[in-house]
Amino acid sequence: MVLIKKTYKLIIIAFIMLIVVIPIIFPIFLLLNDNKFTNIDIELHFNGDTTYTYVADQINLNTTHYRIPGTQGREDCAQYFITKFQQIDPAINYMLHNFTIHSVDCQNVLFKINENFSNIVILGAHYDSRAKATKDSTNPDLPVPGANDGASGSAVLIQLAEVLYKRRQNLTVQIWFLFFDAEDQGDDLGAGIPEWEWVEGSKQFVLEIDNFYNSLEENFDAMILLDMVGGTNLRFINEQHSTSSLLNELFEIGRQLGFTNAFPIDPIVGTIEDDHVAFLNYRIPSADLIIKFWNQPAEWPYHHTTGDDISHISNTSLEITGKTVEQFIYNNYYDNIDEYQGNFPWRDDFNLLDSELLMLILIILPIIGLAVVILWYRSRLMKKSLESY
Ligand SMILES: [Zn+2]
Repeated sequence: MVLIKKTYKLIIIAFIMLIVVIPIIFPIFLLLNDNKFTNIDIELHFNGDTTYTYVADQINLNTTHYRIPGTQGREDCAQYFITKFQQIDPAINYMLHNFTIHSVDCQNVLFKINENFSNIVILGAHYDSRAKATKDSTNPDLPVPGANDGASGSAVLIQLAEVLYKRRQNLTVQIWFLFFDAEDQGDDLGAGIPEWEWVEGSKQFVLEIDNFYNSLEENFDAMILLDMVGGTNLRFINEQHSTSSLLNELFEIGRQLGFTNAFPIDPIVGTIEDDHVAFLNYRIPSADLIIKFWNQPAEWPYHHTTGDDISHISNTSLEITGKTVEQFIYNNYYDNIDEYQGNFPWRDDFNLLDSELLMLILIILPIIGLAVVILWYRSRLMKKSLESY
């Protein structure tokens, strides 16, 4: 009888321990799991000051229309990219992807380095600027300069090409630098260009992607999209279309480089219809580095306003983005890959328990535990009172 009582007591204690211990252990497990790799030790060469001048260059090409699809400014910007990449390597392979949207001539621009490798990483950004500043309370019909929304990601791509090209012989990957036209003309309190959808350029590109690689011999490892990466107070979001194992790895890399404000532990969650979605639909693991630009208070309040100009661009933000992507490439593709264990091949797309659900579990489990203890204590008291009769 005593033995049965003791066993009963032990089971109860074990049960209570489980209920108390699991909520404590689980978050620790998540944190440990999140921190399972270390950046390889290598000097990063990406420079934010240089990149800043590439943002300014794009804006100054045409200060009347900036890079609106179908304008001279857009054409001049494509030519600017070609000039910059031919300065890197006069023989660089580039391909122009011409298409039309509602009979407006548009053009994506693609540069490739290390074509001898069959595995490809795509680094992408849109370069068109929005035709109308539809969120501007005073000048909604003026064009957006697009310093952040367009030019920042494109500028980072140019500097990344310069930096990575110099180390191309140590890299075991083919890299594409892909500039999209016609991303930013959809409806946001009014269309940028009437009847246009968002992300037209990337959709058209993926429709014809077979024309740009050999699908029998080449394959895509990943696609990383940079959108609005140069604004002041840079803080990236947990973008929900993105392949989470890829996005989480970029966040971890950035944090390890010390960029803990730009890559917070608890990022804002958002779902953005951006240029990476077409590549996800083509089954390429893809991630969007983007900020919280919507609603008030937006973390960068100049989205689709005339205030999206050079005065709200930060060299530091550009450098944070560039160095993180640079480190990502070295981690995964620098000669001696063995020392690094990231999430390659980024097939996993999971979402950690969202924080609200986690909080609920943390509250409910102890309540259940407490209820069990009370019931057990009551039954003991009742037994005792019965025994005393
Ligand atoms: Zn935009």
